[in-house]
Amino acid sequence: MRVLVINSGSSSLKYQVRETSTGEMLLSGVIEEIGSGDVPDHGAALDLVEAHLQAEFGGDPGLEAVGHRVVHGGERFSEPVLIDYEITRAIERLAPLAPLHNPAHALGIRAIMRKWPKLPQVAVFDTAFHRTLPEHAWRYAVPNELYTEHGVRRYGFHGTSAQYVSVHAAALLGIPDDRFDGIIAHLGNGASITAIKGGRSIDTSMGYTPLAGLVMGTRSGDVDPSVLTQLMIRGEYTAEQLDSMLNKESGLKGIAGSSDMRAVIARAAEGDEEAELALTIAAYRVQKYIGGYHVAVGGAQAIVFTAGIGENSWQFRERVCSGLGAIGVKLDRIANVEKSREPRVISTPDSAIAILVVPTDEEAAIATQTAELVEEAAAAAESLQDQAQT
Ligand code: ADP
Repeated sequence: MRVLVINSGSSSLKYQVRETSTGEMLLSGVIEEIGSGDVPDHGAALDLVEAHLQAEFGGDPGLEAVGHRVVHGGERFSEPVLIDYEITRAIERLAPLAPLHNPAHALGIRAIMRKWPKLPQVAVFDTAFHRTLPEHAWRYAVPNELYTEHGVRRYGFHGTSAQYVSVHAAALLGIPDDRFDGIIAHLGNGASITAIKGGRSIDTSMGYTPLAGLVMGTRSGDVDPSVLTQLMIRGEYTAEQLDSMLNKESGLKGIAGSSDMRAVIARAAEGDEEAELALTIAAYRVQKYIGGYHVAVGGAQAIVFTAGIGENSWQFRERVCSGLGAIGVKLDRIANVEKSREPRVISTPDSAIAILVVPTDEEAAIATQTAELVEEAAAAAESLQDQAQT
């Protein structure tokens, strides 16, 4: 099935066309500066996408479905859904939980409804895979009203990636998906780590928002919440300033001055102490989560590295693994530095836990899930029709 995968942001729209029968990526692009003079809104952005598709595929681009990456599915969505008006409204109503993302997703969905009203659309939620977390993992120890009235709980993100990587890691080990116990370290600009038991997510480092957990490019990850309340009470900073500092000025950038892992590693190699400290703090945080999740899953079969840093940075993988000796991890230093785009094992045969690198592909996962749901819906509609006729 030919699927248009859309990641609709407030000022940008990323897209890919995927053929799900072969897994091929046929085309990709990004429209930027939506809201500016040239591209006043998401409808205008979609006109540009259409022009690109027509230039590539001819008059009729042959699209059969659209799959949307949707950041927040709240407590309602635990799997992908076919989009209609009510679902679009539901995505919008989750705006308080994802103010920068969900309203922008809805704009993209509505623009497609207007342009291609017959094309089935599917929403694939970044939070959905984590709906299997047990309550002791998603509940915060705060007064109940914060949960019941304000939805304050751990939701977790990067779920589409974690699920995709988990399935491919199990395949690499020759284990059925639903028998896989492991730890997925998704390390990109945004970074999170997920504990998988029996193929399901049972804990994850991001929380109510994607700020929690690991040290990221510009996000702090875990900090004592009193840092914020104390600084606000003392009138040193406003809530908005602190929100911006923790999300945009912290992490690697806060300590080493750059959010780019490659640059930080290069500077550390030249003896820069701040860069070295940033790497040590970031790797230590990953190690602590791996230790905790190894216990949570009852003994991981594998630790899996993915995303920009996880897939490409042998140096950062080595740093993380060098602190995991206590749980029997043995990295194969030669396999670790080999460059490849393929899923692979980088631990020695006698390592107690396999170390894997599995490239993630969120667009492929969204396209596949979209195609499956649209095919299911078509089959269900056909069988209803058959029943009506007999
Ligand atoms: P995003 O969360 O934006 O999708 P990515 O998964 O693309 O992020 O990861 C971006 C990060 O990956 C950056 O910190 C970048 O420096 C890092 N990265 C990419 N390639 C390499 C590499 N060869 N070595 C080290 N870090 C890399």
